[in-house]
Amino acid sequence: MTTVGILGGGQLGRMLALAGVPLGIRCLAVDPATDAPAAAAAEVLTTPFDDPGALAELARRCDVVTIEVEHVPVEALGWLAERVPVRPSPEVVAVAQDRWAEKQLRSRVGIATAPFAAPDELEVGFSTGTIVKRRSGGFDGRGQVRLDPSATAEAVRAAAGQLAAPSVAEGVVAFDRELSVVAARGLDGAMAVYPLVENHHAEGILRQTLAPAPGTPAALEQAAADLIRLVADELGHVGVLCLELFQVDGALFANELAPRVHNSGHWTIEGASTSQFEQHLRAVCGLPLGDPSVRSPSAMVNLIGSEPAPGGVLALPGAHLHSYGKAARPNRKVGHVTVVGVDEAERDLRLTALRQVLADRAPATTVGGPDALDDVITEVPT
Ligand code: AMP
Repeated sequence: MTTVGILGGGQLGRMLALAGVPLGIRCLAVDPATDAPAAAAAEVLTTPFDDPGALAELARRCDVVTIEVEHVPVEALGWLAERVPVRPSPEVVAVAQDRWAEKQLRSRVGIATAPFAAPDELEVGFSTGTIVKRRSGGFDGRGQVRLDPSATAEAVRAAAGQLAAPSVAEGVVAFDRELSVVAARGLDGAMAVYPLVENHHAEGILRQTLAPAPGTPAALEQAAADLIRLVADELGHVGVLCLELFQVDGALFANELAPRVHNSGHWTIEGASTSQFEQHLRAVCGLPLGDPSVRSPSAMVNLIGSEPAPGGVLALPGAHLHSYGKAARPNRKVGHVTVVGVDEAERDLRLTALRQVLADRAPATTVGGPDALDDVITEVPT
């Protein structure tokens, strides 16, 4: 029996552990939370990530250690890497923790990205508008301040000051749509790339993913696959990774890199031949990668804040409910539903039915409706 250690015991760890069961892979997670969702499927050590006792136990019991969130102490990963294979490597995780290092990597390999600068180097905000983002630690739109196109240098600096942490100022990209590409890179450098998916965010939080991204020309699909290969090879990444992208006039701009399984890849559980979770375990365990091809057009809707009664969702044909076992809390991802269909038309009909079921919930639990899909970035420092 292979044992995979996971730093992090959230829903990603839970779905990784679930994917390991049929492969004879068990997972041992570390998470400070007493209600870590991964506990339903994995053994969880409830303690801080840098607890020396827990790290020693991981090193002793695991064949390989991986992550499910990038915001884990790199020093802890470095300590582990001297004792057990750590995939992705601490160096890769360090790059993904720092938006500045990530942007430099993208510039190095020649990937288009939003214009950016250190906030105190700007003489005036970007003409399209400016987003000041924490260099590290922000997620789901938190740790960001959005400024309008007339922002002065003082306003940019004030926004950076409000974040109270090192930050980067980015020009707003007037994108046509948001896409992402998820891929796995094996120990031998082989890659399996899933098709581009279309993502809808509101308040910086992913609400819905359509997979594959509708109306995508083959050239764009190829461009995305080339980009993620470039990044994964440059990093020497092992495991699943995700590149979030903006589409502008048929071109792709990279937004963010996640060296791990990703929310926009959840559809692969039902919609692809091999799920991203199984794919990640295969990669980090040095096993052959699986087939990433699409089985069914899919739509993934995040359940944010709280969950609907399961009966309404389960009564819908083609709907698959994933409840993370998390307590309800505003803006918290507590589950997701994937709907599949034989073709896009059937998937879309089922998605409309799902939206109706979700909209019938109490107001606080409404998710993913068309009204929620405007792009807004809240000013909520983490
Ligand atoms: P991030 O945390 O960087 O992934 O940002 C969260 C969301 O904010 C993205 O998915 C976009 O919807 C939006 N966003 C972030 N950066 C930009 C940008 N430079 N231009 C336009 N929208 C952005």
